[in-house]
Amino acid sequence: MQQPANADEAVTGASVQGRPVLRFAPSPNGYLHAGHAYSALVNARLARRLGGRLLLRFEDIDLTRCRPEFEAAALEDLEWLGLRFDGPPRRQSEHFDAYAAHIGRLTAMGLTYPCFCSRRQIAAAAGPDGPRDPDGAPLYPGLCRHIPAGEARRRIAAGEPHALRLDMAAALRRALPPGGLAMRRLTPALVTEPVPVDPAAWGDVVLARKETPTSYHVSVVVDDALQGVTHVVRGQDLEAATAVHRLLQQLWGLPEPVYFHHRLVRDETGGKLAKSLGSKPLRQLRAEGVAAAELRASLGFAEP
Ligand code: GLU
Repeated sequence: MQQPANADEAVTGASVQGRPVLRFAPSPNGYLHAGHAYSALVNARLARRLGGRLLLRFEDIDLTRCRPEFEAAALEDLEWLGLRFDGPPRRQSEHFDAYAAHIGRLTAMGLTYPCFCSRRQIAAAAGPDGPRDPDGAPLYPGLCRHIPAGEARRRIAAGEPHALRLDMAAALRRALPPGGLAMRRLTPALVTEPVPVDPAAWGDVVLARKETPTSYHVSVVVDDALQGVTHVVRGQDLEAATAVHRLLQQLWGLPEPVYFHHRLVRDETGGKLAKSLGSKPLRQLRAEGVAAAELRASLGFAEP
């Protein structure tokens, strides 16, 4: 007889095989500020409550904007905050091969196409009142979707810069389960509830950019799976993107983490950062004499 589902799994989304795994995943393209501190602290608190491990990952696929000095500064700032991570940090720039292999599988399934458009061409074709994606960018109007394969090959061979896009309609035909796609959301009471998600709202997302052989969506999904992440804890600004992540997990047959999208640190005028803290880097607050305990307390944490 089949074993009943593990009760822990139903309650916390923890992997049946082992301890929950969480991650804090900043992009080292600037100094960490209070918003990052908040996200790291929420991760640490949940890891503690679940008895899980907390990993650190540097999302440095944008080689023009990410710099080693920002990474070094982040390590210092996180230590100052009192946070400890399990194992050494993972650097996405060291795993381009894994992302390429996953993109290659989508191409082999006939779900990708090269796109030669510039941002300006896309904006012009989409028009000022055209449909937008959940981030407010013009929805890709499909200009390159039907370029004949021979022509695309010729243009690539001639060195024309191109991105690789997901053919969203084809991907949905292939991977959308009968009842539609959902994510498992972790509630504050630590139970999971299914929430429907809509990848189609993003249109033909970019999988590999002109200047980098992957994209946020691809590398985050591949890494969460390769690192065995069971609980993705990140800001509300990334909640809509989870629809794309769930679709990619379906297409690649990857496990489905539980998601918790925390509030953003807002100031009185609705900005992302508490005004008292400004958008000041943590290291600047520190230089001004703010103690780590003080910052933690202002974000609602008594302990790291
Ligand atoms: N690297 C992203 C950021 O710094 C976070 C990605 C994620 O947590 O999924 O906003």
